Amino acid sequence: MAKLYFRYGTMDSAKSMNLLAVAHNYRKQGKRVLLVKPRLDTRFGAAKISSRCGLEADADLLLDGETALDPAEFRNLDCVLVDEAQFLSPQVIEDLRRITVDPGVPVICYGLRTDFRTKLFPGAQRLMELADRIEEVKVTCQYCQKKAICNLRFVNGTPTVRGPQIQLGADEHYAPVCWNHYDEATRSVAIEQSGSFALRPS
Ligand SMILES: [Zn+2]
Repeated sequence: MAKLYFRYGTMDSAKSMNLLAVAHNYRKQGKRVLLVKPRLDTRFGAAKISSRCGLEADADLLLDGETALDPAEFRNLDCVLVDEAQFLSPQVIEDLRRITVDPGVPVICYGLRTDFRTKLFPGAQRLMELADRIEEVKVTCQYCQKKAICNLRFVNGTPTVRGPQIQLGADEHYAPVCWNHYDEATRSVAIEQSGSFALRPS
């Protein structure tokens, strides 16, 4: 049986760059890698996996919540790499888990653990439940030297705890932050959601 990995991190923790580096290494050795991503992530073009440092590659397979995976189609692969796995449905995560048993291909999923309200994404929750290995991709807080564990959402420059869970955005809409800075920013805006709030580094 091969392993299911969940490599999670906040926004800007270089998850996609990590994925693309792993894919490059497999392919350099003549191995066969399948690049997978959710269909709803269309920020960089429907079939592209892109990292903020400029690396990108075409996804081989796009998945949505209704996609049922046929294990036979994963035979003869050396690795399956999944980007933005938090957006996959729990059902798809379970299908990926089965692929590690038969045909026995390792599956490495990269994604966010929690949303901007610090709540687990359903896909991330299922990965936390089913993965053999759970590994953190780390980045420091935007405002201090602590490790970032939260994703702070900004709308028009103001931190917010409002809006839908899935709202794909560019860099300016989210910041990786430590708990202290997340709590400081969101407690203030929860009391008064005004446009005048400014984050102060501690
Ligand atoms: Zn901080």
